[in-house]
Amino acid sequence: MAGPPPARSGGEGVGRAGGRRRLSGRSATRSAPTAPRTARLLRAACLPSEPRAPPRPHPCEGRRALAPPLHGPGRTGRRRAGRSGRVRPRRAGLCLPRPARGGPLTTRLDRAAGAVLGSAVGDALGAPYEFGPAGELDARGSEMRGGGGWDPGEATDDTQMAVLVGESLLDHGGLELPDVFDRFRRWAAAGPKDIGLQTEQVLTGGDPWDLAAALHFQVNARAAGNGSLMRASTSAVFFAAAGQEATMDAARRLAALTHGDPAAWEGTALLHELVRAALDGADPLERLPQALAAVAPEQRERYARVLAPDWHPGLATEFNGAVWPCLGSAVWALRTTTGFAEAVRAAVNLGGDTDTVAAVTGTLAGARYGRAAIPPEWTTPLHVPLPGSGGRVLDARSLDDLAARLAGAA
Ligand SMILES: [Mg+2]
Repeated sequence: MAGPPPARSGGEGVGRAGGRRRLSGRSATRSAPTAPRTARLLRAACLPSEPRAPPRPHPCEGRRALAPPLHGPGRTGRRRAGRSGRVRPRRAGLCLPRPARGGPLTTRLDRAAGAVLGSAVGDALGAPYEFGPAGELDARGSEMRGGGGWDPGEATDDTQMAVLVGESLLDHGGLELPDVFDRFRRWAAAGPKDIGLQTEQVLTGGDPWDLAAALHFQVNARAAGNGSLMRASTSAVFFAAAGQEATMDAARRLAALTHGDPAAWEGTALLHELVRAALDGADPLERLPQALAAVAPEQRERYARVLAPDWHPGLATEFNGAVWPCLGSAVWALRTTTGFAEAVRAAVNLGGDTDTVAAVTGTLAGARYGRAAIPPEWTTPLHVPLPGSGGRVLDARSLDDLAARLAGAA
């Protein structure tokens, strides 16, 4: 099923400013007054003809995974408010195999931490420049200094949602989609500084987890934003040991909680698979053909285009808040640089949706180069407020611990 391509501006995270909101308060682009009634009609109409996918076994033996809604919208606008507090690390059961200590598995753990921390620092580094022009990071001449409503090192919704996903996976020992949705919903209700407009509408609309995104997508059509890419680091680490099929399947199901366009599902599945390859010690760029072969055929050509070696962000036909140029730009940043910091800086300097493009780049580059490649001056000020979670704020050490547990190493 092919999703509608996003317009060049406006709509689901693809408009330069029209799809986003930066100040606190409820969305100015909340569904039209007729939407709730339409949604009810759609729900009534789609239930008989769209049976939910049957539950599939979770890759972790002895655990279960609930079926996701394979339909739903993506994110668009932004909102800002604020929360703070301190983290209390939680221990949780694991179902993935625990690697032995030492040897190459230490490198794997370093890469897993690199993916989680790399995404977070990319998010925090890019946040002050969101919606800005290209080259602003270089022009400013300093890093992790905050701005645009963000404190130095403060991570945004990208990392906050990734943490929520990761903690749900650990608490349930696998994919428990209603729980992930509930965590998203509590977070959204607590007033995060930044949230995608469509994500907010899906999470606050009152519809059940397995219908909310689908209904929103059917009413609003545009949903190919990058909002499910941005939160992929934790689930990519968690599912990597389960293999390609399980990883990509879980990615699609997680994406579909908030994004209805299959393009978003496939882009998120691609990112998960590239991270999995990197954690295995492979070059994710060399795995691109293999990963693309596992993409839904109707989505493959467009991804092949933006992931091709001769593609660059200047060829993008949409704002980089859309899923294709966002993933394409992250891969471009990895391909055209030689280290973690260089790749993430390149992503931020593209301008536009800087926090998310850098978060996705940081996920890939962190998995490729490892935790040790992340500059300490980026991780020291890093902090991740978690609205709706008792005032907790995670720091880099907390994220290291989360990554280790997700990788099955702690
Ligand atoms: Mg963000």
